[in-house]
Amino acid sequence: MDKQELQDIRADFPILSEKIYNKDLIYFDNGATTQKPRCVVEKIEQGYYHLNANIHRGVHYLSQKATEAHEASRSTVAEFLHATKREEIIFTRGTTEAINLVATSFGEAFCKAGDEIIVSVMEHHSNIVPWQMLCERKDLKLRVIPMNERGELDMKAYAGLLNDRTRLISIAHVSNVLGTVNPVAEIIKIAHEKNIPVLVDGAQAVPHIPVNVVELDADFYVFSGHKIYGPTGIGVLYGKENWLNQIPPYQGGGEMISTVTFEKTTYNELPFKFEAGTPDYIGSTALAEALRYVQNIGLEKIAAHEHELLTYGTERLMEIEGMRIIGTAREKSAVISFLVGNIHPYDIGMLLDKLGIAVRTGHHCAQPLIDSLGIPGTVRASFAFYNTKEEIDAFITALKRVVGMLS
Ligand code: PMP
Repeated sequence: MDKQELQDIRADFPILSEKIYNKDLIYFDNGATTQKPRCVVEKIEQGYYHLNANIHRGVHYLSQKATEAHEASRSTVAEFLHATKREEIIFTRGTTEAINLVATSFGEAFCKAGDEIIVSVMEHHSNIVPWQMLCERKDLKLRVIPMNERGELDMKAYAGLLNDRTRLISIAHVSNVLGTVNPVAEIIKIAHEKNIPVLVDGAQAVPHIPVNVVELDADFYVFSGHKIYGPTGIGVLYGKENWLNQIPPYQGGGEMISTVTFEKTTYNELPFKFEAGTPDYIGSTALAEALRYVQNIGLEKIAAHEHELLTYGTERLMEIEGMRIIGTAREKSAVISFLVGNIHPYDIGMLLDKLGIAVRTGHHCAQPLIDSLGIPGTVRASFAFYNTKEEIDAFITALKRVVGMLS
């Protein structure tokens, strides 16, 4: 990405020109949420100003237009993930709700006492707790894939965990703490040899790398709109039609029904079976706009630029005495977690904030991972395509100052 292109891209994101405590904002908290380009915000505004009516049930003009926009967005998401059928795309509130949906509905249909679910040690709480809740409800066992010291999954141990009782594997495509890109295609291939389905948590993957659910052969793939430059409150569950048809609805209410009597309700077909209540049709439209924005830049180009930031940021961080980078996987996304000497991550984050730099500190909703590493948490800098090497330079200067103050 050349300088001019990067500048043009940055101009699409008004918030990047904000001052924080009179300092230029440096936003390195993209793993938590991303900033929104003008076109996404405008899409929301246009939606409410010109296209707002409840969808699916209306005969009038606005309702039909809003319905068309929502359904066109479903097609955009399907194309983005390279899903073959648009009915395999379910809109949810986000990654968390999508995982809860599968844990509840798949758990209801396919799990019984003594069965096992496999996750990995590096999962976000959103990909642990729904499975734990299922385990409690149905007396299942949660098994955990360990990792090596670089933060790469132990694939031998993984293969050893699979057995006749394994019902599902749920795994992050990219770790939000370590940046590790997990070998999900291989994980899925091994699971499928035993006819075990796999859910991939793509929250940290889709904004950074091209994803093809058919090539991966993922049974379920989930992500959040807000982490890919779209609005909050909307996300996606991709599920193979065959699985989605076999599992019961997650919530009951409007649109997920076919007929209702007090004696019995029959359910709608896919995808509506899983979209109870008024969907976020404005959010879905804005999410589709965000996906188009990303596609216009090109995910290959985004991945290359972010990789440069990762390499440069890692090199520059290593200039700091006492620097310890947590997560050094060979396949890594643009996330750098680190600790400096014995300084508490929270103190570093607090002081960087005063210099206008937004990083995240703490356990990053992956407490079991942080506990397994025996550390108090990390400072995490996570980059997006609109970040620059100059911002990294300013961050390193600020960090050196902060470390000097705290040492
Ligand atoms: N999984 C991963 C890997 C994440 O990074 C996150 C968000 N930090 C989530 C799940 C949860 O996403 P959301 O809060 O948007 O549902």
